[in-house]
Amino acid sequence: MSKQQTDDAVGLPPAPANPTTLPSFGGLSIDFSSDTSVAAPYAPAPLPDLAIDFGGPAVAAAPGGPGFVSASEGRTETKLLIVGSGPAGLTAAIYAARANLEPIVLAGSTPGGQLMLTSDVENYPGFPDGIQGPDLMALFRAQAERFGTHIVDVDIDRVDLSSRPFRIWARGVEYKAQAVIVATGASAMWLGLDSETRLRGRGVSACATCDGFFFRDKEIAVVGGGDTAFEEASYLTRFASKVHMLHRRDEFRASRIMVERARQNPKIEIHTNTEVEEVLGEERVTGLRLVDTETGVERQMAADGLFIAIGHQPNTEAFREWLELDAKGYLVVRDKTNSEIEGVFIAGDVHDHRYRQAVTAAGDGCMAAIDAERWLESQGITEANTLTAW
Ligand SMILES: Cc1cc2nc3c(=O)[nH]c(=O)nc-3n(C[C@H](O)[C@H](O)[C@H](O)COP(=O)(O)OP(=O)(O)OC[C@H]3O[C@@H](n4cnc5c(N)ncnc54)[C@H](O)[C@@H]3O)c2cc1C
Repeated sequence: MSKQQTDDAVGLPPAPANPTTLPSFGGLSIDFSSDTSVAAPYAPAPLPDLAIDFGGPAVAAAPGGPGFVSASEGRTETKLLIVGSGPAGLTAAIYAARANLEPIVLAGSTPGGQLMLTSDVENYPGFPDGIQGPDLMALFRAQAERFGTHIVDVDIDRVDLSSRPFRIWARGVEYKAQAVIVATGASAMWLGLDSETRLRGRGVSACATCDGFFFRDKEIAVVGGGDTAFEEASYLTRFASKVHMLHRRDEFRASRIMVERARQNPKIEIHTNTEVEEVLGEERVTGLRLVDTETGVERQMAADGLFIAIGHQPNTEAFREWLELDAKGYLVVRDKTNSEIEGVFIAGDVHDHRYRQAVTAAGDGCMAAIDAERWLESQGITEANTLTAW
């Protein structure tokens, strides 16, 4: 169905005469020509058509995202500041902006978050044919901006949560906010090979739950030696014809029972003292160049996919001094989205190492925005709004 047909079908207003082109999103070109700037409260404007030119690798070449936008312009004071622009942060922004909180999002050096590092997303509801990760996040961003969210693609480096307004610094600019949502996610750890980066989303992944389905009857490899690596390998045997577990040492951190279970699984073959030197393939993964860590002998292995399962790094650096961390370094939430500091809320993978999915992170962002709005009301910072149209 064409855009025009879609609009007609739901009786939306015609596109404005003067289309506006907003700054690009992490290197993606977004055409807002059919959008109205900030939506009128009574009738939602249509979502923009997206013109996305990957012009090379299917996904962002490196964490850090393709492009930065200067932090020096625009608003620096707000009722609600959101740190992070993955599914959690941008969903929080959509809800907060529609509740007239005029949020600022400090998007970080991976604008759009972890889904910018993958290609096909087939489990996010509403997209029966699947959608590319960067396209999905461009839609999130367009929806947040449409309601007046101010987004700055910058990492924060320091915070002071000792009193309100809370103060947050990013590249020398100070932001002040009555409430804060921390949605900085947890970055998957990678091996750091150029070939691995180049083939991310083209056979290289860090999420078995997300991408295992694409490897039906294929031969794949999993790197890692902890419980997560064994869990992922076992999960992947549902799809793959063969799963090679590659571990650079001859002992595993994983529990003995997990290792034993894997040894007994006819689909899993364990290779110890084995390190990946290069991921082979032009358009997609076709194999691996491996090295024996004891003898130095190299060999090649045919493989259609490579899953990296060596852990995640929660992005909590700036908050460590202020907020409680659990044993794995994730933020601790109390009663859904609250932190131990009133007015500071937490959403998404930065606290959740159980589900780690875009839809759960988005749900968390929604809850954090609602909690923040109610808290701001309770403090008399915003007027009680019984008509808030969530
Ligand atoms: C390879 C791969 C494939 C995946 N595929 C799927 C899939 O198919 N389906 C699915 O549901 N899930 C998938 N996931 C998981 C999904 O991406 C995450 O669960 C989800 O993105 C978490 O959302 P989040 O908003 O909590 O954090 P993230 O998406 O990690 O976003 C964190 C945000 O915080 C920002 N940030 C970090 N530090 C700072 C700082 N100091 N200052 C300011 N900002 C900061 C970052 O720039 C980023 O914008 C995949 C993950 C990976 C790694």
